[in-house]
Amino acid sequence: MTSASDRLLRGIGVSPGIAMGPTVRVRWALPEVPHRVVPRTQVEKEVRRLRAALKDVRRQFTELRARAADRAGLDEARIFDAQLLMLEDKDFIDGVIELIRENHLTAEKAFEFKTLEVRDLWSAAGNPLLKERLADLTGVAIRVIQHLMHSGEAEVWEMIAEPSIIVARELSPGLTVQLDREHVVGLISEEGTRTSHAAILAHSLGIPAIFGLRDAVARIRPGTRAILDGTRGTVLLDPTPEEVEEAGRNDTRRRELTARLEEAVTQPSVTLDGVHVALRGNVDLPDEITAAKVHGAEGVGLLRTEFLITGHSVLPSEDEQTHYFTRVGEAFSGHPVVIRTYDLGGDKFPAPFRGPVEPNPQLGWRAVRVCLDEPEMFRTQIRAVLRAAVSANLHMMIPLVTRLDEVERTREMMLEEAARLEKSGVAAAKSVPLGVMVETPAAAVMADRLAEISDFLSVGTNDLTQYTLVVDRGNARLADRFTPHDPSVLRLLKLVAEAARAAGKPASVCGEMASEPLSAFLLLGLGYETLSVAPPALPLIKWLIRQVTTAQARSAAEAALAARSADLALDILRFALAEAVDLTLLDPDARLPAGRRSGSLKL
Ligand code: PEP
Ligand code: MG
Repeated sequence: MTSASDRLLRGIGVSPGIAMGPTVRVRWALPEVPHRVVPRTQVEKEVRRLRAALKDVRRQFTELRARAADRAGLDEARIFDAQLLMLEDKDFIDGVIELIRENHLTAEKAFEFKTLEVRDLWSAAGNPLLKERLADLTGVAIRVIQHLMHSGEAEVWEMIAEPSIIVARELSPGLTVQLDREHVVGLISEEGTRTSHAAILAHSLGIPAIFGLRDAVARIRPGTRAILDGTRGTVLLDPTPEEVEEAGRNDTRRRELTARLEEAVTQPSVTLDGVHVALRGNVDLPDEITAAKVHGAEGVGLLRTEFLITGHSVLPSEDEQTHYFTRVGEAFSGHPVVIRTYDLGGDKFPAPFRGPVEPNPQLGWRAVRVCLDEPEMFRTQIRAVLRAAVSANLHMMIPLVTRLDEVERTREMMLEEAARLEKSGVAAAKSVPLGVMVETPAAAVMADRLAEISDFLSVGTNDLTQYTLVVDRGNARLADRFTPHDPSVLRLLKLVAEAARAAGKPASVCGEMASEPLSAFLLLGLGYETLSVAPPALPLIKWLIRQVTTAQARSAAEAALAARSADLALDILRFALAEAVDLTLLDPDARLPAGRRSGSLKL
């Protein structure tokens, strides 16, 4: 028997839960289309065939959308809108017709050519959103081509004798929405990430799934039995009876935790000693508005605005932005929504805004620096915030601040734009609370002065960790070194919380660490009473807050601050949290460091 590590494959867990069963391989790819030309006299007949197929496939997608609405919800059903739009895309369809007319191709060959051309274009664009939409394009093309070739989509479940785990190179939303847990207990795909439409659907349908598992098709023989853990993103092949038993126990624990988390959603976010911790959601894409709401977010602590630019060929207009900010603001009825102004540059330079080629983009022209140097773009965004603030509780926050004058100049611009709007008779707020994102060591060290001139501070621990430890946040080789629990980062976090408190200004944390239970406990202990977290993590963090006291959190934070390394700080937090919470519920592998008692930990 090969060792467990040889049998363990890792991908991205996109839908939680444990699945066990045999694997079945599903081929979901463009069908082979024979190269055939038609006589000139038949060209128009091919065009008519194409139009008829498009009409039929549009009907199929409308039915799939209805099915998704029924099974997964209205928001998920909108996933199929993207595909319906592709079927109506005039440029695309005209391109296919041109290929038929000019090259006398069959409708299916012309559709295949055009699809491959657009796929190449999108793959080369380097734009993650376009890459995400590749699966939608393939899904549309498969159906249209199969329809034209009269080959019909293979019914997966017809090949499945017992509940199985599907393994595919890529999975479409159209296929996923038709799956049911009676036949399909888990999904593995080589392509795709958490934000792929098929992943979102798998999550809503409650089917555990792992995407982005490289070479899955080659590495997993059809029929191999496997244990899929969608929470951790692992697949264990040929499990032993003991491993099956252990997976069953973990599954029971997870279900228990899930039931408790569901209860937490409707309960208040208060600690055992009655302190209210405001839990807000981080919203990167419009899809997450609903996710944050249903998970009980008290507003949005970080509304990223880069998506308004990414994937578009021009900068968004003032009206478009006003509309989006109004939509988000109104969705959270009175709770604050913190709009972060464009954080372009570094790892985020979208198409309509070609940045310069820089030797060190993370230390270059980014975020507030770009905005202040491009005042028209910045002022347009500021005006949109002020206009939307008429009907919602909006705040504005600037990223990557390193100097006081960046905040002062932004405030000046805000007041000037408010005056301009008033003069032109446009309904707009006179100002909105202006916050500083503390995500550079410079800002953390100057937090007392920044707190004086701003209305709130919000710590971006992703960048603060990167810049404090000089560790590129996206470099997999340095992933072990990227830890916000490093004593240096902890000291900065403490400094910021104290500076805000002394100035009487609120401070929150909106970096990823707030979404993780041990860190949320630590942040509470450091004095942060507002956390903004990834929407799916909201119930877990609330459940945790409801089981601890601020005194427990404070003493754990104090001990962690005194630790000499990130690992020791984490051990201390684990020990302290274990007094309040059953840690094995959070992580079945959670083990307290052997032979250590919390009182005798060596710091
Ligand atoms: C951060 O840096 O912690 C943060 C929240 O911003 P982003 O991840 O968008 O850089
Ligand atoms: Mg950041």
